[in-house]
Amino acid sequence: MTTPDLSQPSLSQLIANPSCMDDYDPNSMPVEKARQFIRQHLEPVAETETVTLHESLGRILAQDILSPANVPNYDNSAMDGYAFNAADLNAASLKIIGTAFAGKAFNAAITHGECIRIMTGAAMPQGADTVAVQEKVLRDGDRIQFTEAPKPGANVRYAGEDLRQGQSVLPAGHLMQPADLGLLASLGIAGVKVYRKLKVAFFSTGDELVAIGKPLATGQVYDSNRYTLYGMLNRLGVEIIDLGAIADDPLQLENTLLHAAEQADVVITSGGVSVGEADYMKDLLSKHGQVMFWKIAMKPGRPLAYGKIGNAHYFGLPGNPVAVMVTFYQFVRDALLCLMGQPASVPLPMFEVECTAPIRKLAGRTEFQRGILYTDTAGLWKVKPTGAQGSAILSSMSLANCFIVLDDSVGNLDAGAMVQVQVLQGII
Ligand code: AMP
Ligand code: MG
Repeated sequence: MTTPDLSQPSLSQLIANPSCMDDYDPNSMPVEKARQFIRQHLEPVAETETVTLHESLGRILAQDILSPANVPNYDNSAMDGYAFNAADLNAASLKIIGTAFAGKAFNAAITHGECIRIMTGAAMPQGADTVAVQEKVLRDGDRIQFTEAPKPGANVRYAGEDLRQGQSVLPAGHLMQPADLGLLASLGIAGVKVYRKLKVAFFSTGDELVAIGKPLATGQVYDSNRYTLYGMLNRLGVEIIDLGAIADDPLQLENTLLHAAEQADVVITSGGVSVGEADYMKDLLSKHGQVMFWKIAMKPGRPLAYGKIGNAHYFGLPGNPVAVMVTFYQFVRDALLCLMGQPASVPLPMFEVECTAPIRKLAGRTEFQRGILYTDTAGLWKVKPTGAQGSAILSSMSLANCFIVLDDSVGNLDAGAMVQVQVLQGII
């Protein structure tokens, strides 16, 4: 659980008097600073539920999982071969007195001069502590000789070697992944307590927006933001409430906003948070909530709003399609994971690679250019920008497999410069 930082001003103090915090400048808000502000106001959902192991995939644990048993819970062979006692390593030959299979143990003890045939995963019989692999043994009827003697204790997996009984296996706050399902299954755990799903409502704003399936008139665009938002939210496993595209009409916007805040933990809107003529959102948000409006020192994604409307957290994303995705990944994703129950979220990893094309960039702001990571002829990973980097060019996001993250201090770069990248796709 995050505890409120009492040394920091509250949302309402900050909105009423922005200068109450040193170096707080809503007109040039550094990316990291904005992230920290948002993080201060996030508390994970309180309610939990118990789900089956299958259902726990992608959910966040609300309990510590301790191992109820040793894994493996008996000493067993790591190889197909012969189990015997290391005291017999120098014997001229050993007599085979039986066989142990995985799931079918040899239920007797072996003594001096004896061994058993043993398969991978089979329990070690009493009296045996070492396994000779079958390829390093000469067999003649019911006797074996070592062609290459193993080390004492070789090829045995010991009880508790993976996990000891009582050991912490997964902490509360852990996001369940495929390996975790297997891990808990290996402990015989059938269900776990997870945080309830977060409810996220969103809508687009703009008179120019048209739903797909209808023809476009001049000056109109299809509403694409609700589709990228749907995709990104779906991947996070939240409950999605899509409230449609709302025209730039103060009354309709007000109704939708209040309806959204009543039923969701988080409300996300796109468009209308800058200061154009039809940008009514700002007034509405000031009327109904406590919302901070920032010009983030970044590209794309300059206007961004964060705050609370009633109990709901509110994110006002820019309208431009690439800016929506970048601000979602850089601010909203992190915040949602925290609200879902992940404690201090781990920053996304960054890697430094050579960029093989020149980059135009203004110092003084962070840029998230869209990049393509590729291997050169020598098999080395390098990156190049996708091409035009306008915040309305959504094809750049489809082409990209990474963000090239250029921080405030970076200016124009020549081809061959080293840059930081954040990979968009992962294995799991
Ligand atoms: P705004 O922030 O409302 O001024 O919008 C900035 C730009 O993003 C304008 O060109 C809008 O047409 C465009 N835009 C806003 N919302 C959407 C949307 N849902 N889908 C596609 N483009 C949008
Ligand atoms: Mg608009």
